[in-house]
Amino acid sequence: AEKSNHRRRVLLKLSGEVFGGGKLGVDPDTVRGIADQIASTVGTVETAIVVGGGNFFRGAQLAESGMDRSRADYMGMLGTVMNCLALQDFLEQAGVETRVQSAISMAQVAEAYIPRRAIRHLEKDRVVIFGAGAGLPYFSTDTVAAQRALEVHADEVLMAKSGVDGVYTADPHKDPTARKLETLTYDDALRQNIRVMDQTAMTMCKDNKLAMRVFGMEGAGNVASAVLGEQIGTLVTA
Ligand code: UDP
Repeated sequence: AEKSNHRRRVLLKLSGEVFGGGKLGVDPDTVRGIADQIASTVGTVETAIVVGGGNFFRGAQLAESGMDRSRADYMGMLGTVMNCLALQDFLEQAGVETRVQSAISMAQVAEAYIPRRAIRHLEKDRVVIFGAGAGLPYFSTDTVAAQRALEVHADEVLMAKSGVDGVYTADPHKDPTARKLETLTYDDALRQNIRVMDQTAMTMCKDNKLAMRVFGMEGAGNVASAVLGEQIGTLVTA
């Protein structure tokens, strides 16, 4: 399914911490703010979203406290679906048609993940929200963001970060000499062990020449800016 038009299409990755405003669960004001920004771009840019779930559960953490890793990962995936529904609600309140597609079947709340249907939704100005990760334990939603971006032929992956506004030469919270980078290659990021997303995801983007913009959530209007293609944050390329 090649793209049938020349509109910009992006895959926005929103991690769980973005939804919780740093806490457990969903912070409605935060989600409304993000939804309103995305709504302002609909009609100009086609946006698909992969949603994380770290504001509920992270499988690896639950496994450390003794749970079976796979079962813990399924809990993590189910958490992402709650974030999807919250985002869908605020997007629809803002007048945007949305579809949630889940990688784990739950027909009452979400469509199944059907890539060609997702593309059709995007072409019709619907925002598509992908939930439940890949439906597979031992994966992360970062990896799913890269995979979904490739499968729906997105032009760019947009990684929304909390607490940092791009990629730095070192941790800006610890090292006062840390410098923000305008651009970076995946090779450099992998070589210098800069963790803008997990390594599987970065390798997938690198191998398929998919560009990624890493930007901070904090500035007013940053999500809309990134979606619209403004040069904020750091651009990572193959
Ligand atoms: N997860 C998984 N498979 C996937 C995606 C997610 O098992 O394809 C689980 C995993 O346990 C992960 C949790 O869901 O810790 C929440 O996702 P993630 O940690 O990627 O969310 P984020 O860090 O973006 O909030």
